[in-house]
Amino acid sequence: MKKKMLTNNFGAPVDDDQNSLTAGIPGPVLIQDVHLLEKLSHFDRERIPERVVHAKGAGAYGYFEVTADVTKYTKAGFLSKVGKRTEVFIRFSTVGDMKGSADAERDPRGFAVKFYTEEGNYDLVGNNTPVFFIRDPLKFPDFIHTQKRHPATNLKDPDMFWDFLSLTPESIHQVTILFSDRGTPKTYRHMNGYSSHTFKWYNDKGEYFWVQYHFKTEQGIQNLTRADAEIMKGKDPDHATRDLYEAIKRGDYPSWRLEVQIMTPEEAESYRFDPFDITKVWPHADYPPITIGRMVLNRNPENYFAEVEQAAFSPANFVPGIAASPDKMLQGRLFSYHDTHRHRLGPNYHLLPVNSAKGCPVNNYQRDGFMRFDNNGGGSPNYYPNSFGGPEPDPKAAEPPFEVSGNAARQRYKHPNDDFVQAGDLYRKAMTDIDRDHLIGNIVSHLCNAQKRIQYRQTAIFYKADAKYGSRVADGLQLDLDEVKRLSEMSHEERAKATAQGT
Ligand code: NDP
Repeated sequence: MKKKMLTNNFGAPVDDDQNSLTAGIPGPVLIQDVHLLEKLSHFDRERIPERVVHAKGAGAYGYFEVTADVTKYTKAGFLSKVGKRTEVFIRFSTVGDMKGSADAERDPRGFAVKFYTEEGNYDLVGNNTPVFFIRDPLKFPDFIHTQKRHPATNLKDPDMFWDFLSLTPESIHQVTILFSDRGTPKTYRHMNGYSSHTFKWYNDKGEYFWVQYHFKTEQGIQNLTRADAEIMKGKDPDHATRDLYEAIKRGDYPSWRLEVQIMTPEEAESYRFDPFDITKVWPHADYPPITIGRMVLNRNPENYFAEVEQAAFSPANFVPGIAASPDKMLQGRLFSYHDTHRHRLGPNYHLLPVNSAKGCPVNNYQRDGFMRFDNNGGGSPNYYPNSFGGPEPDPKAAEPPFEVSGNAARQRYKHPNDDFVQAGDLYRKAMTDIDRDHLIGNIVSHLCNAQKRIQYRQTAIFYKADAKYGSRVADGLQLDLDEVKRLSEMSHEERAKATAQGT
């Protein structure tokens, strides 16, 4: 095979890549060694900002195939026909820790899917849990700070972690899932993915529906126990990244069934839970999941940095037929994802091959900016309206109008939500005895590292979800159960005050 010639970044041949240009032997090195200067200065700039969340991840390509007719609910082109296939790219990730952390950390897992549709890229940026810790984006930066490191010690801090959660009781449902063995999935292939948010689907008659997505693993749910996860973190910190790559390489393609739950706007008005509260699920008995498609991952990226590190997903990437719901966390994410990618990758990150639309052309009047590496619109008009044949908006792509009302104010969710009932249902109904034993052990071994007053405050919340659940945690932590009960009967504000001081 003919060898490729080594060149500099501008194509000129390089004569020697082993010896710097020196004045005599031993030197010094001459500044006119432009090859050395280019090589060093590019190396100096290799690192880009790490994602503030979801820093460690693995990705793969594949396809999504429609298996049921959903045209009465949505006019989305990629969902328009049974048998229709759309190329996808998916990135799985851990959430809280840095890029060098272990894949087996207890953490939710990101489950982000990019559908390269003929109407533009549609991103479904979910997690492996159907709910989330908080339901207002104003709390998000605070929440994430508590999952990272203490400002003074730069260590993970159980006081920060549990202080915030115990002062944020709506987190109890997600905390219960996180501390079940689902908080340490065996691999990325052995977990489900959920939209978590409610989204809007609308059809070509302008009727709309609320929808929740569930990607169900066809490999079966499998998790690591706490002990297995501890061993795995030391033995192979990259085990899930390795597993995904190797499974695809050997042709053992992982797959997921896509199920949706559908709610009409009329049902949403009177539903017993707020359908836009991301700390709640829609119980299956109320809204049975309907299978509508299947996703298969069958191709590894060729270059991790180019395709996985530079991959950028946003819940704001919709296509006609799919739109946002009033879920406040979703509304915050509609802003934050594009914003963080512009910081991380620059304003033209949509031009990178993994992020660019593949199913349709991109035509608009946005121009220039750092790293504009396509033809930047060539000589075509860069303003609208124009009379020189530039692209025109298509009113058919509009989301049907919807009513909004009320006062502009900082206000809570309107439903008298019970933040504890679904966590209790999960503990009582969905978990097996073994699940419950592991849950209690996982909580106790973590919460025991926080201050006693924080242990009491958090255990009172477990008790509110389910008396047995709280009692078992109290027992594991050797807490006074009467005090736990007393705290559980207080309002959130009273409990916070009663546990504000101490150690
Ligand atoms: P169901 O009995 O119909 O559903 C229970 C669901 O719980 C299962 O289908 C499974 O979801 C999930 N599950 C089972 N074990 C665990 C676990 N250890 N950790 C997390 N999830 C688990 O009851 P409901 O629909 O009434 O829900 C009861 C509780 O189940 C909810 O409060 C919620 O905590 C949890 N759940 C509900 C989901 C929903 O969309 N209704 C989705 C996921 C969890 P899956 O099939 O998705 O694996």
